[in-house]
Amino acid sequence: GSRATGAPLVYLDSAATAQKPLAVLEAGRRFETECNASAHRGLYGLAARATEAYEGCRARVAAFLGSSSPESVAITRGTTSALNLAAQGLALGPDAEILLTEMEHHSNLVPWLLAARRTGARLRHIPVLAGGTLDLEAFERLLGPKTRVVALAWVSNVLGTINPVERIAEAAHARGALVVVDAAQAVGRLPVRLAECGADLLAFSAHKCCGPMGLGFLAGARQALERIEP
Ligand code: PMP
Repeated sequence: GSRATGAPLVYLDSAATAQKPLAVLEAGRRFETECNASAHRGLYGLAARATEAYEGCRARVAAFLGSSSPESVAITRGTTSALNLAAQGLALGPDAEILLTEMEHHSNLVPWLLAARRTGARLRHIPVLAGGTLDLEAFERLLGPKTRVVALAWVSNVLGTINPVERIAEAAHARGALVVVDAAQAVGRLPVRLAECGADLLAFSAHKCCGPMGLGFLAGARQALERIEP
């Protein structure tokens, strides 16, 4: 119940951050009390258990995204941190154009603004039509030989619009551009298949899917992840 009123609490803001089921809290407690040690950094039993749990997490996330390769998942602090990793680590220069949409969350705007400022790359924006969908004709016009990255939300947190990621990615790939997808509102709500959705890099936050705050991932094929200079 609500502490403030004593009335039963109905929580309807799960798209922003979900409440955690007891099973999630219990799994976190179990890790901390039974497995916690330095993953990949110790040769003793407890460290091996920590490594196993850490790698098990990557494998499960990969499987959830339809991938059999744990290497396709890099654990991050969440969507914002994953998108920052991509924007800061991809090679860009004064000749490059970064194509975003007008409906991006700040998480998928500010990192690219900073990258553009740092590298001299140019930001361009796909307009949104009156009905809340992307102007795909404008997208085709904006997409050019200089487009190095197309970065967009799969599902808009403001409009609820589901963007045609696969179609956009097909056009972007034909121009040799890398497709970065903010999947904060997509994973857990839509069936997300890493290899088929068109995203080269896909960012997500666990707290939007009943998981812990401060945890998430950047997923993609190994070749795409390796284009990011850490
Ligand atoms: N992108 C979208 C579309 C979102 O809805 C959110 C969360 N509201 C974020 C990015 C940012 O997620 P986080 O704060 O977990 O990094």
